[in-house]
Amino acid sequence: MSRSRAGRSGHNQPLTVPPSILAVANQKGGVGKTTTAVSVGAALAEMGRKVLLIDIDPQANATSGLGVDRSRVETSIYDVIVMGRSLAEARMHTAVPGLDVVPSDIALAGSEIELVDMARRERRLQYALEALASDDDYVLIDSPPSLGLLAINAVVAADALLIPIQCEFYALEGLGLLMHTLALLRKELNPTLGIAGIVMTLFDARLALAHQVVDEVRNRFGDQLLTPLIPRNVRLSEAPSHGMPITLYDPTCRGAIAYRELSANLDARIQGGAVLSTAEIPSPV
Ligand code: ATP
Ligand code: MG
Repeated sequence: MSRSRAGRSGHNQPLTVPPSILAVANQKGGVGKTTTAVSVGAALAEMGRKVLLIDIDPQANATSGLGVDRSRVETSIYDVIVMGRSLAEARMHTAVPGLDVVPSDIALAGSEIELVDMARRERRLQYALEALASDDDYVLIDSPPSLGLLAINAVVAADALLIPIQCEFYALEGLGLLMHTLALLRKELNPTLGIAGIVMTLFDARLALAHQVVDEVRNRFGDQLLTPLIPRNVRLSEAPSHGMPITLYDPTCRGAIAYRELSANLDARIQGGAVLSTAEIPSPV
């Protein structure tokens, strides 16, 4: 994929600075990875950025959350990762102008096993992205809640991680494991992997514990913690069943406003080059 984004027409502020490939990752389940990938993808597209969301989770929640009709899917991420088809063949438009998706597929569930015997099995997505000639400004990868080969493909292909953390006690334990894994992946597979930001999700301002978790994460990550915090908002949990990102489903609800602001801040950070360098991995919590 072309690394130069200067001068693309249609933008007030053309993108010039990588990274643009962000893996939305946390091995913990149900922390808001998919909600973040879909909502940030839609909000960035709404700002005029061109976004490709790759769903590499066999659960296919981002695919269905974007209203992709499974019967229309001819080529999925399974065909790309396992069968060697191109991302260009698999990408589909969504209802949001500027936001495309590479859909997932239940067949992906078996791919962890199929991949085991394949050459360069951790780099299948990286190679597919390198072969993609496109003018996307951002590629967001929604990864599964595991540390298996699919999640590793996402992290290896990425320039940086976007890490959603749920504002609850166990989040901190999970974060320690994630930092350990990140250090390992940098050492073994992707030495330039950065952190694009931490997204605090499902924040309930009435709970003292939620504030404590945010404070703890802020102590560790400083300004890597993206603002605003994403509130617990029932509209965010309803949107996927209508096959719409929150920015379409209820554009003025608290969740939509928060994700829109966060996406603008993320975009500004990335354009400013403020992504953690390899030397700055916070120690495990
Ligand atoms: P998995 O690990 O299974 O892939 P995930 O990390 O992708 O999960 P989501 O699917 O985004 O997590 O969120 C888990 C559940 O919480 C979903 O039902 C989602 O709709 C809901 N949810 C996520 N964020 C919020 C929020 N801010 N407010 C209310 N509900 C939310
Ligand atoms: Mg998910």
